[in-house]
This record gives sequence, structure tokens and C-alpha cells, in this order.
Amino acid sequence: MAVFVTYDDLSIRLHESGRDYDMDAIERAYLLANKAHAEQKRKSGEPYIVHPVSVAIILVELGMDSDCIVTALLHDVVEDTDYELSDIEEMFGKTIAELTDGVTKLRKINFSSREEHQAENLRKMLIAMNRDIRVIIIKLADRIHNMRTLYAHTEQKQRDIAKETMEIYAPIAHRLGIRSVKEELEDLSLRYLDPVGYNAITELLSEQQADREAFLMTIKREISDRVHESMPEAGIDGRIKSVHGIYRKMYIQQKEFSDIYDIYAVRIIVRTVAECYAALGVIHSMFIPIPNRFKDYITMPKPNGYRSLHTTVIRKHGANDEHSVPFEVQIRTEEMHKTAEFGIAAHWKYKVGMQSADSMDERLAWIRRMLENQSESGDATELMQQIKTDMIPEEVYVFTPMGDVKCLPAGATVIDFAYAIHSQVGHRMVGAKVNGKMVPFTQTVKTGDIVEIQTTKEITTGPKRDWLKIVKTGEAKSKIRSWFKNERREENITNGREELQREFKRNGIRLPDDKADEFMQDLVRKAHMETLDDFYAAIGYGGIVLSRIMQRIRDDYSRMMKAAPVQTGIIAKEEPKSRSSSEGVVVEGIGNCMIKMSRCCTPIPGDDIIGYITRGYGVSIHKIGCPNVPADIAACSEPQRWIKAHWAEKIAAREFQSTLRIYCADRSGLLADITVQLSNLHISIHALNSRQTKDNHAVVTVTITVNGREHLEGIISRLSKVAGVIQIDRSNI
Ligand code: MN
Repeated sequence: MAVFVTYDDLSIRLHESGRDYDMDAIERAYLLANKAHAEQKRKSGEPYIVHPVSVAIILVELGMDSDCIVTALLHDVVEDTDYELSDIEEMFGKTIAELTDGVTKLRKINFSSREEHQAENLRKMLIAMNRDIRVIIIKLADRIHNMRTLYAHTEQKQRDIAKETMEIYAPIAHRLGIRSVKEELEDLSLRYLDPVGYNAITELLSEQQADREAFLMTIKREISDRVHESMPEAGIDGRIKSVHGIYRKMYIQQKEFSDIYDIYAVRIIVRTVAECYAALGVIHSMFIPIPNRFKDYITMPKPNGYRSLHTTVIRKHGANDEHSVPFEVQIRTEEMHKTAEFGIAAHWKYKVGMQSADSMDERLAWIRRMLENQSESGDATELMQQIKTDMIPEEVYVFTPMGDVKCLPAGATVIDFAYAIHSQVGHRMVGAKVNGKMVPFTQTVKTGDIVEIQTTKEITTGPKRDWLKIVKTGEAKSKIRSWFKNERREENITNGREELQREFKRNGIRLPDDKADEFMQDLVRKAHMETLDDFYAAIGYGGIVLSRIMQRIRDDYSRMMKAAPVQTGIIAKEEPKSRSSSEGVVVEGIGNCMIKMSRCCTPIPGDDIIGYITRGYGVSIHKIGCPNVPADIAACSEPQRWIKAHWAEKIAAREFQSTLRIYCADRSGLLADITVQLSNLHISIHALNSRQTKDNHAVVTVTITVNGREHLEGIISRLSKVAGVIQIDRSNI
């Protein structure tokens, strides 16, 4: 019989922790959850209660309090069983009910797409964590256990969940400084997102594993011998770094495995900051330091609060000292260590509420900034985008001429820097110097740059709209937008109204008089705006990006029109002649219709194509020969829906997506070689997956952007030359 995690396991951990827990509340929570989930099983076949108990154990390990343990046990009760939030409040009080609500997803109805549902859930969670940071820590623990048991899901589900984890949850854990959680989430996600790459690295790591462990033991012993001479209480610990960390260096920075410095990390934990620098001196006297690899995060902490000294040194290794092996040494005090491992979770323990602690406030300011920025845009998918860009782990440190330091995401420009100083500096910026030289506004900044922003005192025209396309940080974007929002409201309303009218026309949306009001009010509400003018203004200053919400508006429109069928078809009759649409396709006999490339066969210019009139969603274009096109149209059930189509003479420069299936011999480095070929050709990749086949081959599926058939054929011929590639097909699924 399988052994499941039980309540006993949890109570043992609670006692072992040595902390004071409210065992009465925890037991009551367990009993309720056990009863509520009694009939449920997880995908893995385990009784459902194993999940909340496991989440609770993870939270004990993170050092969280009774409220968190109770909430962990109850966290899926409201979402998945008949109990309501009010029941939880009655039994466990307001705090537990609020925490539970914070981790409970919104119901799926009311959302037109998976992305929108995902984004709105994220918004809800950020708002809740802004009130009580424990919400996100519980959510992260929940995610860890879900990732540990992800094998039980379908392949598609595995990838979707892993992608969300890699893009949203791991960056949040990073931002909160919870290293152990971040690394586990990244490694678990990577296993599903790129199994080939993941396995290649674990194999490389397991090769000569004994030798690696021996090396690690040796350096640890040598270091402790020397460090203990002057600092007898120092703790020394060594480890091999995370798979994902190595993966990033190999595939993203294109380094050979043998060139990666960061496979080994030795950690020295001392009592005081002075001892940190003393220990650094000892290390540099023992081994050869690699130039430019020393980082002082004590003087200059990372934005997530991380402090440590880092250096990379080399030691000779092998029977005749024939190898030079580099390794990283991290030096910190016990307190810095706690912050490094547990981040916000470490500090949370000392306080009852979060509001009082200043440093904590600073560390959580990004949540508020994101929420502020996002309430202006009203579009939750934008919030997700912002998390993806603002929370990337690469950071650069840039100086003002006075020596103040600003931390920005890699790729940030001088405009971002100006806005990081103050919004008034950004709004009045007329030029910038980097290291004494004038630079263009598009200039990106590097660590160590001294940047001087030139401003004007007079009232100027303010920022340019183009800047929105140049800046990298959400902070700069939101400040620029709010300038346009506040300074140009009337203009924004007019521009926004006109833009919306243009888009409506382009999409064939004509609101019947009796429905227009209700329809527009619905849009305003869904955009989280107060009035129609606010809505127009937001479009005008770019807070709402129409292209992102048009699909939903079209869907709403079709739904409304279906309810009033008399109206349909009128639009097509008014413009009966063929015309080419924005997609570059001419559909015979139908004008001004919505056209989309079908997802099953993703046609590109040059392919023979045919159109299918869908119910309420325009015409979808298929490749002739696509399995979804009947072989004998005349004999199919609705032949009148199939309609001739061809590519327009001139297709406005635009890009098409195409999916290739590459069948190849399974070897390490293959994915990297394919991506290098594509990047040499300046092809952007939208999705990349690979799986092993039973006969020890691999199938790599890659979705890329092309401008037509000729272009695609050129790419296929280049990829065919990659060693190991056997066959390349355009995907028909
Ligand atoms: Mn859960």
C-alpha cells in the first residue's frame, strides 16, 4: 500500500520546529478539510487531503505561523467543495477567511479566454498580498506541491502550469527573496518546459559525480581549515548549483558546460560584516580570483534585500593538477543568510503586521507600484506582462553623478533611469550623458555607468508618446502614461473615441441603437473604469491597448448579435465586392469580413488556401489539404460554408506563424543548435517543445514567425543541415 503524508507527519514537524503553534485551530482545520475533501482524489490517485497537508508542511519548513498552517489546510475547501467563505469565517475568524479568499481562484465563468482568467486571478492575488503578504507565501507553497505532483497531468496541462510557474511564480519568489522556493519552482518547471535540456544537464552533472563530490569536499575542507584559524565559529557549506541556473547559462548565454563558473558554490557564514571582508581576504589568498567576478552585495544589496559578498576563484584539480576548476564563494552573516534563503518569510516572523517595518515596505513597494500602474491600464493581461518584464532576475546598477545608485532591469534605457530618479526628472528630460558622453534617448545602461540626465526648468512639452515604446520598466511606462492621462485629458478622450470607432469599423462592429448604451457600459465595467469618458481617455493615453481587448469585444459583440439574429449579415451585403483584408487574404464574394488563419494548419502566403465561414467569427482560412478540410466539399454536410480564397497581390509586410515538427536523432545540445540556427536567421521563436520518442529519437516542435512560403522553405533547408536532423514537416495539428 502506498504511504501518504498524514496529519501525524504535519504534527511531528510542528513540534520539531520548536515554535509555538495553535494546535487546537490547526487540528480543527484539518478535521474540516478532511471531511470536506473526503470523497475527492487528486489526479495522482492520492486522497485529496494529502495536498493541503503537504502544503502545510512546506509552510512549517519556511517558518510560517499558525494562521498560515490553518489556511493551508483549508485553502482548497472553498474552491473545490460545498463550503463557503462565510463558513470559514464563522469557524476560524476573519483573518483566516481573508487569507483563504486571497488564495482562492475566481470562478471560470465571466472570462472569454484562459489568459484573461489567469490575469484576473493574478490581479486578485496581488491585491490580497498587498493587504497581507502571507497570501503569496501560502500560494507559493501550494504551487510547489502542485509542481511536485505535476506528473499526473496531461502533457498540455503540464506545460501550461510549468510555463505559468516559470513566468509568474518563480519571479515572485525571487522578488520576495525566497531562494529555496524560487530554485525548486524553476527546476521543476524546466523539467516539463524543456525535458531534453533538463535531462542533458542532469546527465552532465551525474557524469563523474563522485569526482565532483570529492572536489567539493576538498575545497570545503581546505577553506574551513584556513578560515577557522581566525574565525573558529564560521560555518562552511558547499553545494552544486541548481539545474535551471546552469541551463540559463548554457542555453541563454550560450556557454559550454565546461565554461560555466557557477556549478559549485561554497558558502561561508560568519558573525559580523567585518568578518565577511576578512574571510574574503583569506579566500583570495588561497585561490586565484577571476577578475571582474567579485560582487559586493553588502554595500549594494539587491532589490529583494539579498546581501552577501560573491567572488569566483580557481583551484587546480586532477591527478596532475591539469584542470583549473572555477567555483563561486558566497560570504555572509547569519542574518543575511536567513534573508537569502527565506527572504520575506524570514522577516515576517518578527512582526505582527507588515505595515510597521520600513525596509519591508520598500521591499513590497513593487506590488503597490504594479497595482497602481495596472489600475490605470485596467487590463490585467498587462499586469502579467509587467511581471514578466519587471521581475526578470538580471539587474544593472547605475550611478548618478553624485554617486547614488539605482537598480534597473537589464535593457533599461536612460529614460528609465530618469524616471527611476523622479517622475519630474523624467518629464523634464531633454538629453542624457553616459560616462560624460551625450547619448540618444534609446541608449541602454550597463552596470557601473554614470548617467547624467539633462532637464529643462521651463514648462516643456513633456514626455513623448514614443517613449512608451522605448522604456523597459513598468515604472517609467506608468509615469509617462499618467502624465498623458493628467495633462491631456480632453485630447485623450477625443483620440480614444476616434480610435475605438476606427477599430469598430475595421472589425465590422455596428451597435444597434437600442443596444449601444448597454454594450458600451459593459465594456467600461470590464475595463474597470468609472465612466465612458475615463474609458476613452484610457485608450487615448495608452492605458488600455485596444488590440489586446478587441478579441473579447468581438466575442461579446457576436454573442449579443446572435441574440438578435435579424441584424447579422447586413454588413456583408453593404459591401458585396471582394476585398483584401488586413490578413492579406481575398475571400471571393464576401467583403469586409473578419479573417483569421486557422490554428490547425497555420497557412502562410504561398500556400493554396480555402475559407470556411464560421458561425459568428468571420472566415477562417485553411490550407488546402488540411485534415479539417473535407476532401470532397460538394459531398460534405454544409458545402455552402466553404468558400474560395486566395492571397492578395500585395500583402502588407506582416508576419505569419508557422509550426515545424523536426524529427531527429536525440543528442545533447540539439535544441541549442536549432535555436542558434534560427537566431542567426533572425527568426523569432514563439514556442519550442521537444519530446523523446520510443525509438530513442526526438521530436522538436517549434513555432516561428515567417513572412511567407519561400521564407519558410529557406529556413527548413538551413535547419536540415543541423547534425542529427532527419526530417522536417510543417505541423498539421
Ligand atoms: Mn491547492
